[in-house]
Amino acid sequence: MTLNELREQSINAALNNDSINFLKYSKELLDLLYFKMLEQESTRFIGYFLLNMVKQIDLDFPAAAGVNIIDSKIILYLNPVELIKDTDNDICLTFEHEVLHIILNHISRADHYKHVDKHDHNLLNKCMDVSINEMLSRPVSNEERWYLLKHLETQYEVSLKSGDNFENHYNTVYQSKKYQDSKSVNESTNQPPTKPQESAGGSQSESQKPNNQPEATNQPQSLRDKYLNGVKNKSCSHIKWKEGDPSDGEGHKNLIKDILNNFINEKGRELIPGHINTLIDALFTKPEIPWQKILRRMLGDIKIPYRKTIMKRDRRQSDRFDLKGRVKKTTVEITIAIDTSGSVSSSELKYFFKEIFHILKAVEYKLTIIECDTTIAREYTVEKIKDINTKVYGRGGTAFTPVIEHINKKSKKPQLLIYFTDGGGESTVPNPKGYHILWITTGKIDNFSVKNLNNKSKIKKLNMV
Ligand SMILES: [Zn+2]
Repeated sequence: MTLNELREQSINAALNNDSINFLKYSKELLDLLYFKMLEQESTRFIGYFLLNMVKQIDLDFPAAAGVNIIDSKIILYLNPVELIKDTDNDICLTFEHEVLHIILNHISRADHYKHVDKHDHNLLNKCMDVSINEMLSRPVSNEERWYLLKHLETQYEVSLKSGDNFENHYNTVYQSKKYQDSKSVNESTNQPPTKPQESAGGSQSESQKPNNQPEATNQPQSLRDKYLNGVKNKSCSHIKWKEGDPSDGEGHKNLIKDILNNFINEKGRELIPGHINTLIDALFTKPEIPWQKILRRMLGDIKIPYRKTIMKRDRRQSDRFDLKGRVKKTTVEITIAIDTSGSVSSSELKYFFKEIFHILKAVEYKLTIIECDTTIAREYTVEKIKDINTKVYGRGGTAFTPVIEHINKKSKKPQLLIYFTDGGGESTVPNPKGYHILWITTGKIDNFSVKNLNNKSKIKKLNMV
């Protein structure tokens, strides 16, 4: 049977209260979708992860899907009554959503908050879901069934950075006026800050839906009713997390690492989508270069070409000259050049991307990426991890001049160019016009081929371990 036929049969069975056939057809539908995910290169990684999860079908699970780790097993809870209401695309994205909760170690990261006084667990759940839904490999088909970044932004009148981690979303929302106001109203009426668990069943938002569900009674709900009215007592799909050992962060990480390593051994790292690859690196490794410190130091030196920003002194402390050059983050632009010549190994490239990802995490500057061997192959701007292209062109000889000349000709230049290279190339390069260069080399600094560096340039060694 095709996917559509299986869906039709499942729905018919649900409407006829025929549980046996409902389970048969809906399970077949889900199996076929895992298989499709394994078949396609772009989703093979998620499909492989799904294979390593223990699946539990539960028609009373309070959301479409959920995950948990119990006794070193990753459990995927599935409620086909809810799932079959989604398109095939959205069912696969729901799987991806749950897998990402695991890969990103959300269970133990959320558990840290139990030490935070007066934290809002419901808000945390929303922020986790929003951060994941921004990372999905494809757009969702049915936006109103998902809780998305824009929904959170509208609800709390905040502006959030796409691709950011949930902790940052949480902080921003928590400090927002709208949230604090709603909290104080609720506190004075002795209500919890937000309605308990109104967000995200699986990935979907319950808060977006009208409350037309029947009153909870002790009567068992028929399959037909579950399908037509939704499962009773719907709540957040993260509800099971407490049942495992969420504080065992290291145990969880090891479990995830094992699956990842097995996948890499069997299929190779290339099949892990680039943005997930970098996320994994960020989760399991630290940056080699303390970007925040270095960029603050370097950009602090840099005179910003706009008079406007220099004039923007703190009114109350107008004699404080150290405040005078302070620049609004959004006015700073950084270009990152990647030497993609043949002499740069793929593991060096991996290290470059890992660092670039950490740069993106460390700052809110506007980033442009240029790939260059002897000529520029590609130039693009990035806002989130997903935008970073880890498959590079090039792999010919090495020249740095094309990038510097290209930027020198621009009317709007970045404040800083960060150049990632193995250090072997031309011996002289043009001087940068109106910006600084930070060379990041994997080779020894003494062996760096460029000899005519001026005082606007710095070199740093990138250690690979
Ligand atoms: Zn979720």
